[in-house]
Amino acid sequence: MLGSTGSIGSSTVDLIAREPERFDVVALTGGRNVALLAEQARALKARLAVTAFDECYGDLKDALADTDTEVAAGGGAVVEAARRPADWVMSGIVGAAGLRPGLAALERGATLALANKETLVAAGPLVMAAVAGGGGRLLPVDSEHSAVFQALGGENPGDVERIIITASGGAFRDWPIERLATATVAEASRHPNWAMGQRITIDSASMFNKALELIEAREYFGIDPSRIEVLVHPQSLVHAIVGHVDGGMIAHMGPADMRHAIGYALNWPERRNLPVERLDLAAVGRLEFSPPDEERYPALRLAREVMETRGLAGAAFNAARETALDLFIGGRIGFLDMARVVEETLVGISARADLGGAEVTPENVLDADSLAREIARGVAGMRPGERND
Ligand code: NAD
Ligand code: MG
Repeated sequence: MLGSTGSIGSSTVDLIAREPERFDVVALTGGRNVALLAEQARALKARLAVTAFDECYGDLKDALADTDTEVAAGGGAVVEAARRPADWVMSGIVGAAGLRPGLAALERGATLALANKETLVAAGPLVMAAVAGGGGRLLPVDSEHSAVFQALGGENPGDVERIIITASGGAFRDWPIERLATATVAEASRHPNWAMGQRITIDSASMFNKALELIEAREYFGIDPSRIEVLVHPQSLVHAIVGHVDGGMIAHMGPADMRHAIGYALNWPERRNLPVERLDLAAVGRLEFSPPDEERYPALRLAREVMETRGLAGAAFNAARETALDLFIGGRIGFLDMARVVEETLVGISARADLGGAEVTPENVLDADSLAREIARGVAGMRPGERND
């Protein structure tokens, strides 16, 4: 499990811990929350525990001193963990840091349960090549993409007319648009329906999360972007709808609990009992849908442009978004500035690099990522080397 201490990771640990006899835990990786990582390693009798940060090695080693769990630290050790021979790997790291370990797992033929959507956004063609080359499999964990996968029921995505992914609208869906400029980090970090990590929660308020998911759907299902739609659905109970050429639409419903999508990917191709709420639709009463307001959510328009350009545009877009999000969390820019910074970064980087024409190689993805981060910081008024804290 990559990112076992996060929101997705903890939900995965919860499912695995319920059936200890079914699973043999090869490795857990986390970040700075060493106490939780050690607790999970003990509970699951993990053979290896890795913190991504070198400076946390001593604490992790101490916390697991009386166990048989091997301990390691650093980004390279996270990739090594992904290379250990496990059949199934959860990709639950947040951000572009999930790319290298995810690719490493796929290259050795693992089934990769992909929550880390940044991997597909930044390097979709590399991911698909790793699946084909390694003989492994990629299963979606993002709730909307798991829903599409389930609603497709094995039908070829090329034969469907449209894919609709839903969006809750995030923390500010009912705010007057004039108020958004003054929205605080604390306000943006409260999701109406889902309990998730802070970064994806803020990205839900700005719909950068949905923007990433549009690109993720395009890369995963190989469907033309014009056939992928976003629908605002405040109840978050219908996660996606697949529309067929005959006008029939198959919707996937379920509670707003990531343990459904995680458990589906864990048990696939079987279905097994999962500890999630069973919906009482009579009590829910009504389901509402409305089109997204592109003025309120410019991230969606930017995602369409990225899908048009392709190539390295996704890597640049994701890096600019991560940087803008860091700067918003650090109090350096306002809520609406995030979309402005990303848009100006894409304009700036396009003047210096041919995003659409460049080949998608690991080196080019990393270069586009670092150049976009540098430009985004400049757009936001940061001096070179200046710290955001
Ligand atoms: P989180 O912040 O709760 O957890 C992130 C995990 O990644 C932690 O284990 C952390 O230690 C680890 N990590 C952070 N920086 C790292 C680095 N540089 N190197 C290695 N590991 C690092 O995040 P989350 O909400 O669980 O989201 C994880 C991923 O799943 C994201 O890509 C997110 O978009 C996606 N996702 C999350 C949800 C959700 O419900 N939380 C839903 C759909 C998709
Ligand atoms: Mg999602």
